[in-house]
Amino acid sequence: MNEGVFRAQFGSHKSILRGGGGALNDRESQSMVSKIVWPHGKDFAFTIFDDSDFNTVENSSAVYSFLSDIGLRTTKSVWPIRGNGTPKIGGTTCEDKQYLTWILGLKENGFEVALHNVTYHTSTREQTVEGLDRFRQLFGHDPYSMANHSGCSEAIYWGRARLSGSRRVVYDLAHLFSNGNGDVNDFQGHIEGSSLYWGDFCQDRIKYVRNFVLGDINTLRVCPFMPYHDPDRPRVKYWFAGSEGPNVRSFNAMLREANQDRLMAEGGACIMSTHFASGFFEHGRINERFRFLLERMSRMNGWFVPVHTLLDFILQTRGEHSITQVERSHLESRWLWHKLFHTGGRS
Ligand SMILES: [Zn+2]
Repeated sequence: MNEGVFRAQFGSHKSILRGGGGALNDRESQSMVSKIVWPHGKDFAFTIFDDSDFNTVENSSAVYSFLSDIGLRTTKSVWPIRGNGTPKIGGTTCEDKQYLTWILGLKENGFEVALHNVTYHTSTREQTVEGLDRFRQLFGHDPYSMANHSGCSEAIYWGRARLSGSRRVVYDLAHLFSNGNGDVNDFQGHIEGSSLYWGDFCQDRIKYVRNFVLGDINTLRVCPFMPYHDPDRPRVKYWFAGSEGPNVRSFNAMLREANQDRLMAEGGACIMSTHFASGFFEHGRINERFRFLLERMSRMNGWFVPVHTLLDFILQTRGEHSITQVERSHLESRWLWHKLFHTGGRS
């Protein structure tokens, strides 16, 4: 759907998407961001959450060697178990010995190992518990952070459940308008009584869950209250946002020089959301532009730590934050607008 058609059908984003409670303006957001003083005299923070879609040792290990060589320590998500079903989007799981050895090496080297649901297709409550136990057995702790994987119906507070009030209506209508079948992806990880429910385990065993991925390099500028608790979605302890770059082209566009400089000037924090198996290493080579941009970033005075280390620091510095209705309304509107018109429907 294009923006003009959408406006004709549903009205402007100010009247529809921002309904129900005002919004933080950029100055208000910026004033929250400016309160962070990064450790060790650093000017800004930068990290990456890598979803495991299509990942193999062959297409991803060179990227991690490169990140390690330039001093970055980021977050690599995994699927601890393989499952028996057919995935919508697959990749290698921790049941592959060579892959597991590589992942354990990353952990040893200071990278965070995170969760991308327990496998690449839908899991029942029992299978999710089995996967969480396997994760703990393999890595010695529960996952600090996770992101829902596409095609897993046990995803938690996902699809239309990410949104509230009028924005949920717009989301449903947009799906109806684009699909013509009203399919709005009814995810059930948070629904008590469902065979896919695992919200209680999520609450007990996982600290941070990614929700909105937005089109700004300074994640903390567009989500200045992260990590936050959402009283309407209580089975997640703390939510965090991400900056969008799902493949090498969009990642490089987000990391362009001007954006890097702005991230530093704003003293912000970036949590890039990506899939390192999507074009970063091809024909035996790391993408040249990616290499150049990351090397440039690594020479700046940034704090390059994994996602949970960064979020722990913000949480420790600011204390707990329970998102208000106005803040949630602002964030949902910004994300919905971005999703509808700038990402082709990606999360
Ligand atoms: Zn995924």
